[in-house]
Amino acid sequence: MIDYRDIEAAAARIAGVAHRTPLLTSRTADALCGAQLFFKCENFQRIGAFKFRGACNAIARFTDAQRQAGVLTYSSGNHAQAIALSANLAGIRSAIIMPHDAPALKVQATKGYGGEVIIYDRYTEDREQIGRQLAAERGMTLIPPYDHPDVIAGQGTAAMELFEEAGQLDVLLVCLGGGGLLAGCAIAAKALSPHCIVIGVEPEAGNDGQQSLRKGEIVHIAVPDTIADGAKVTHVGEHNFKVIQKYVDDIVTVSDAQLIATMKFFAERMKMVVEPTGCLGAAAALHGIVPIEGKRVGILVSGGNVDLATFAQMIS
Ligand SMILES: *Cc1c(COP(=O)(O)O)cnc(C)c1O
Repeated sequence: MIDYRDIEAAAARIAGVAHRTPLLTSRTADALCGAQLFFKCENFQRIGAFKFRGACNAIARFTDAQRQAGVLTYSSGNHAQAIALSANLAGIRSAIIMPHDAPALKVQATKGYGGEVIIYDRYTEDREQIGRQLAAERGMTLIPPYDHPDVIAGQGTAAMELFEEAGQLDVLLVCLGGGGLLAGCAIAAKALSPHCIVIGVEPEAGNDGQQSLRKGEIVHIAVPDTIADGAKVTHVGEHNFKVIQKYVDDIVTVSDAQLIATMKFFAERMKMVVEPTGCLGAAAALHGIVPIEGKRVGILVSGGNVDLATFAQMIS
């Protein structure tokens, strides 16, 4: 089981490579919620999302033999770019398996960071099998998007920085997909602010994490239909679930309409572009999903990678 020392070690490894992102406040948000909110803005992280932290930490731990062969992953989202850039900075090769219908922008960005993109057909091919085959052929190390101790420890550094700046908090709201960010942040929270209640926030359409926490075992669902593409996972990871069961107090859900209202709030009031998944935590606060009146509340804003045309369409 990973613990807070792993997060401290991760912080030392990624220092000077990952950005220390800003912690922002908004009097308007505070007034709306009757609380004191602290937004940890990972939309300003390298590659535009917290995923850089975990990828960078995982690759920093490679042995010489692993560095020789390079790193491999599958992702159509922010983890692809995080691995490509982290590998590039470490001077090693990366291969990223992406679906044929991945947004062109994301494929371009991944190639731009020096990643070798391997396209597969989402409907007829199995990315995990392609991954295993490539790993065997080339000896590359697979770093999955969330179900990995080094990834979890890296993501936890975001909350570590949040608590270092904000001090003790009453509530921490964290977006939840596969659970890398939530697990890492929960470990940091319980170490740095032991009385802080840690809550995961999922899209309403994909509440597998909530179901899993209530049932006491990992529940699998169909690919959820939601605009929160970073949380379109069918189940949380195994490493992640162990940590979540131990340290997370509750998991709540928000609707796509609430995510859109929150994207608008961030753009209008805080002058920043946040992708739908990045709005999960803030949406739970702004829409009263979690009782926070009079409390000091930390909110993980996880990323800002959204196509501008899509963004404009959503908020209009
Ligand atoms: C990946 C991602 C998430 C979900 O993170 P998990 O570690 O899979 O729970 C949330 N927001 C953004 C922007 C992401 O890229």
